[in-house]
Amino acid sequence: MSTPTAVRITGPIPASVPSRKPEGTGGAILDATLDGIYETLRLYRHGAFSVPCPSCHVPAGELCRARRSVHNERRRAHRAHLEGTTLVPLLAAPVR
Ligand SMILES: [Zn+2]
Repeated sequence: MSTPTAVRITGPIPASVPSRKPEGTGGAILDATLDGIYETLRLYRHGAFSVPCPSCHVPAGELCRARRSVHNERRRAHRAHLEGTTLVPLLAAPVR
């Protein structure tokens, strides 16, 4: 078994170690991520984007006119639509 050896620092020690993430970019990254998620949901008409918005009257598959948000009425309409929907359509269910 070897014994640990001491490391001798020969140069000046930096006052601070630079961060891996540049400052001021967190918001931009989050904005881009949220835009990408909403665009994907809109494209496939998934979630709240599967129903038209009763607040801003956009059709299903379109983004709400509110920036970076989905109107609460649209979310409620989606949840109400889900209550009447079965996960397996009747035609796909096994026949016994
Ligand atoms: Zn809306």
